[in-house]
Amino acid sequence: MPELPEVETVRRGLLRHLLGRRLVRVEVREPRLRRPVPAELAPALAGRRLERVERRGKYLLLTFAGKRVLLLHLGMSGRLLLDRPEPFSRHEHLRFGFEGGRRLSFIDPRRFGIVDLLAEAELERDPRLRALGPEPLAEGFDGTLLWCRLQGRRLGLKAALLDQTILAGLGNIYACEALYHARLHPLRPAGSLSRQGCRRLAAAIRHTLEAALAAGGSSLRDFVAADGMLGLFQHRFAVYGREGEPCGRCGRAIQRLREGGRSTFYCPKCQRRRGHWTGGRGRCL
Ligand SMILES: [Zn+2]
Repeated sequence: MPELPEVETVRRGLLRHLLGRRLVRVEVREPRLRRPVPAELAPALAGRRLERVERRGKYLLLTFAGKRVLLLHLGMSGRLLLDRPEPFSRHEHLRFGFEGGRRLSFIDPRRFGIVDLLAEAELERDPRLRALGPEPLAEGFDGTLLWCRLQGRRLGLKAALLDQTILAGLGNIYACEALYHARLHPLRPAGSLSRQGCRRLAAAIRHTLEAALAAGGSSLRDFVAADGMLGLFQHRFAVYGREGEPCGRCGRAIQRLREGGRSTFYCPKCQRRRGHWTGGRGRCL
């Protein structure tokens, strides 16, 4: 599942390759995604120039002339590819043709992705965007802000980091990685973390995301893989997907916890379980 670094790398690829170009054609092959692709998408956007490419959490916001915004979410399995040859491939649901012959394809086998159309004025009150917590790479994100977000929360730290209303952009991979770097147990009650613990975790989240972004930037030429895929890259993880391998810090075997359909990877020695739920809600600045 694409997380903040992948989506941000996609954004930079779109900026580099499509910003300022006019959209000349929109072809919708399969409108049945998580919710139907609006029928007015193609007539509303065709002929308009791409003026801005922004990201909020895992959402991409492409603003076209006339303040029309194309909102994209890659869901579980969505990908964006540049300049795919004809004809449409399997699972290719939409294709955006830009001037100069550039083409952007939306491919999504599981169809959990979102393609939607909004007016710029609607963004502020869009419930999907309004619900999002703060951006972990934004200026103001620090231990104090994270502490405020976690106050009074009984759920485990890992689950808290995945909750997009607490913090935007993290998924399973980078939540595991950040907790490892902060030496925190994934099931520790989120509200039990001290301010100092939150400072450590906030720094680890930032470091983990920035390292992934740097790896993506260096492994993809112009943010596009050789096959045209935007933003998805292989990155070496400290714990994610490494069950049974030795921890790089202490040598103990990495363990895997399963809850629901998700796996959590952690080092049982470096990430000892500490902190008890004390109930109540602390005072938040
Ligand atoms: Zn360890």
